[in-house]
Amino acid sequence: MARFASHLRSLIDNFMPATCVACQRPASLLCQNCIETIEWVEAPRCERCDSAEIHLSHCQRCQTPISPFQAATYFTDPIRPAVHALKYTQTAAVGKSLGEIMARAWPTWRTRADIITPVPLHPERQRERGYNQSELIAEQFAQQTDIPMRHDILFRVRHTRPQVGLQGKSRRDNVRGAFQAVEPVVRGKHILLIDDVLTTGATLTESAETLYRAGAQSVTAFCLARTPTFPLIS
Ligand SMILES: [Zn+2]
Ligand SMILES: [Zn+2]
Repeated sequence: MARFASHLRSLIDNFMPATCVACQRPASLLCQNCIETIEWVEAPRCERCDSAEIHLSHCQRCQTPISPFQAATYFTDPIRPAVHALKYTQTAAVGKSLGEIMARAWPTWRTRADIITPVPLHPERQRERGYNQSELIAEQFAQQTDIPMRHDILFRVRHTRPQVGLQGKSRRDNVRGAFQAVEPVVRGKHILLIDDVLTTGATLTESAETLYRAGAQSVTAFCLARTPTFPLIS
């Protein structure tokens, strides 16, 4: 029975939509045509001097701050239906494809990262859902970029309401004190947080503050997609 269950699990893990989630042509997750229409976010440039030499959320040349939270693509078609596919299938195969898309964009970013960590879910929420979708994406991203991924440095210690439906400040209040970091591992490290969709950055801000309190040298975030309205400089 256990063997059957694990066989079933691996079948589900490898489940892929049989048609492109954006145009319904036969393809797994996204067809080549739709992949070519992905709206990539250009690597950040300094607003003041236009330099592309961004280092750890500052312009190297003139020290103007740049948002430490970035994303590979915009949360528009065909990425939007692909993220929804990850939500409803919760399968490793879909996460893997999305992690690959993110990894493709990574070489243009000049962020230093010693360790990757996905934004964690509360253990109970993860049990309910079966998966943490950020983790599914992060696993493949870590593999392709050769940045070690750790599951044991950041934990969600408090239940929070889903951020959907909450506005700016209430989103921030909702996640305040929600995380805990493991100090000996975090101290002195450049940490890269991975998440699926960057909306207001409230969860990432709270995660980053927790990691800084635990002694992180720098904390940046790279997400699969960002909503077009995400404020890049705050
Ligand atoms: Zn398509
Ligand atoms: Zn500059």
